[in-house]
Amino acid sequence: MYQAEGIQIQNLPAQDLGCWYCETFDAHLFASHEFDTNVHLNCIQTALAKDPEDPEAQIFKREFSEIM
Ligand SMILES: [Zn+2]
Repeated sequence: MYQAEGIQIQNLPAQDLGCWYCETFDAHLFASHEFDTNVHLNCIQTALAKDPEDPEAQIFKREFSEIM
């Protein structure tokens, strides 16, 4: 399961360390297995607020539905 600390970066390549949306790397990232990248939950929510039909954000939302 996803850790509350939000860090599961051990198995990801270096070029994928930043957030999918804002490209920032920090302690608030969650690892997405759907996209093999890291992402901020609040960036997903921001994307959904801008466009509720955003297909990538929808997939992130589904993947992280238990913690969002
Ligand atoms: Zn972000």
